[in-house]
Amino acid sequence: MMLEIHPTNAMCVYRCQMCIWCGGQKQTTSIADFYGAERLLTTDQWCGILEEVKGLGTHQIIFSGGGETLFSQAKVKPVLDKANSIGLETMIYTNGRTLYDADPALLDSILSSTWLRVSLHAATPEIYSRLINRPLGANDLGSVLDGIRKIVSLNKQRRGKLKVGIGIVLQELNYAEVAKIAKLCSDLEVDFLDVRVDCIGVTKKLSEYQYEQMLEGLRELRTSVEAGQSGFSASFADDLLIAMDQWKGMELTQPKRCLIPVVRPAIDPFGIVGACDSIGEPYTRSKSPREYVLGQMSNGCSFVDIMRSAAGKELGIRCKFCMPGQISLNALLEKLVDDFRIGIEPTSQPFCFDAS
Ligand code: SF4
Ligand code: SF4
Repeated sequence: MMLEIHPTNAMCVYRCQMCIWCGGQKQTTSIADFYGAERLLTTDQWCGILEEVKGLGTHQIIFSGGGETLFSQAKVKPVLDKANSIGLETMIYTNGRTLYDADPALLDSILSSTWLRVSLHAATPEIYSRLINRPLGANDLGSVLDGIRKIVSLNKQRRGKLKVGIGIVLQELNYAEVAKIAKLCSDLEVDFLDVRVDCIGVTKKLSEYQYEQMLEGLRELRTSVEAGQSGFSASFADDLLIAMDQWKGMELTQPKRCLIPVVRPAIDPFGIVGACDSIGEPYTRSKSPREYVLGQMSNGCSFVDIMRSAAGKELGIRCKFCMPGQISLNALLEKLVDDFRIGIEPTSQPFCFDAS
């Protein structure tokens, strides 16, 4: 259904606390140096992969990870153009730091895409700087906001189809920023806000009081969005929704199998194919069992070959950094597969699941 790709040179200037690529400063060696820059996939190789997956029936390509997605502009642009030109939906995740000064040709490519999500974990400059581990004087937040304004304005001028949104990962430094971020979303006239928790444990550092304050802020946000007062839509991580609704007593199904590779595998900048986006990032991959690496694209081994050989593998849930959304999706997929085995078609399920 979806493929996440990292067509970058494995670089980023930020060092975010919740980064699954650098492990919040735990990865000190430059990733490109660590794996060998000569092993980075070329734009031609990336474009070839897109042709292959289009043939497999993939709908969406997610541009994310591998460091910062838009930092390697010369590499990402031709790949984005290729995906857009062959009719794939394109979703871009970025920290937004290079948007304002981006090459106009890259901005055109972004405006021809489907969806752009800028990670903006704080609306206060001091908090933003601390979260990304950069000096306040670098004016990173100001630049990111200017970049969002620019892309929203160009999209409007051209009556474009691009949906622009903001993502926030909640943690100790920004748990009280929810209302400010929501105001920014309205001021910037973005289309959506994604509220998430992290998978490397930074959200867990909140005290009970801070966690309750955060939930209160989220409930207010949700109420105003549902009342149509915000001008943007909002989505919340599954475990936040459960906590907001105080469903603590509910018994949750824990999936036993990982079926994510069928719907959203990931390819890192060096051609390593991970079962999911966590395995596509060096830090979280290095802490996960080896079996979740499905293969390495090199020596004539194509993405289709790797997916075919992975198709027969049964993967359990043994990764330390499985995200809440991945656990929920696995639970859903496991039920679909088990039901299918006893003769219930996905299209007969009591929720919208288009067979195409
Ligand atoms: S911007 Fe993204 S890749 Fe860069 S350090 Fe932050 S989370 Fe990691
Ligand atoms: S168990 Fe979770 S983290 Fe591991 S590959 Fe599956 S989805 Fe990814």
